Amino acid sequence: MENDKTTALVTGANKGIGYAIAEQLGATGMRVLVGARSDTGREEAVERLRASGVDAHGVRLDVTSDESVADAAAEVEERFGRLDVLVNNAGISGPFDPVTWTQDPTTLDLDVVRQVVDVNVYGVVRVTNAMLPLLRRSPAPRIVNASSSMGSLGRQPGPVMAAYAPSKTFLNGITTQYARAFADTPVIVNAACPGLVATDFNGFSGDRTAAQGAATAVRLATLPDDGPRGGFFEDAGVVPW
Ligand code: NAP
Repeated sequence: MENDKTTALVTGANKGIGYAIAEQLGATGMRVLVGARSDTGREEAVERLRASGVDAHGVRLDVTSDESVADAAAEVEERFGRLDVLVNNAGISGPFDPVTWTQDPTTLDLDVVRQVVDVNVYGVVRVTNAMLPLLRRSPAPRIVNASSSMGSLGRQPGPVMAAYAPSKTFLNGITTQYARAFADTPVIVNAACPGLVATDFNGFSGDRTAAQGAATAVRLATLPDDGPRGGFFEDAGVVPW
């Protein structure tokens, strides 16, 4: 195993936007680690990526489990020695009303909020902190957090989603705190919005492809050393907080 090869871990890379991010990072020549909780989904994704020429490897990873995340970090260290790119892509909307496609704050089940925040926010912190010692071994570590413009307080697009949208606002806030903590280090962290992408997430109702949705995350994962830090971006540029 070459340990000087740039290595990227993408969480939730078995399908959707995460898979497309893995494919596009792989196309740049990076080694790509497919972080996924389902053994079958992970193995199938690795196989498909390899068939398209990507140097792909599976890593079992459930972002809500301290144990799974610690095991994943130990496995990455043992097999690859360091990490250069972490894309915190795994995310869920949580259950919503199937008729109105909303999460109504006036009837919100707090267990839904806990479940969504556990994946979309705590999951990111859990994975980032576990992988940080490995990222710090890279000359140019990059972290990308998969956010959403639904978390933008300035824009507030789409339906009322009282668990999901604020989870991404929370994630944006955490992203800026990481950027402050990394200010005098080579670690660059940013948040990416993929746009409305047709995936399982929304019953394939988005108007963008997963490949289009992956583009901003891939750009942020491959930023030069003088690239932006602690920002929130989409294809068209900066997303307002
Ligand atoms: P998706 O097709 O539903 O994929 C979500 C991925 O996250 C799946 O691989 C899923 O794994 C994984 N995941 C969920 N919980 C996990 C856990 N506990 N541990 C590890 N992996 C977990 O959704 P997507 O549209 O590609 O979304 C990817 C990211 O983009 C999310 O963060 C989402 O919030 C964000 N986003 C999406 C859109 C959109 O329009 N699609 C818009 C804005 C932002 P399983 O297959 O095992 O469930």
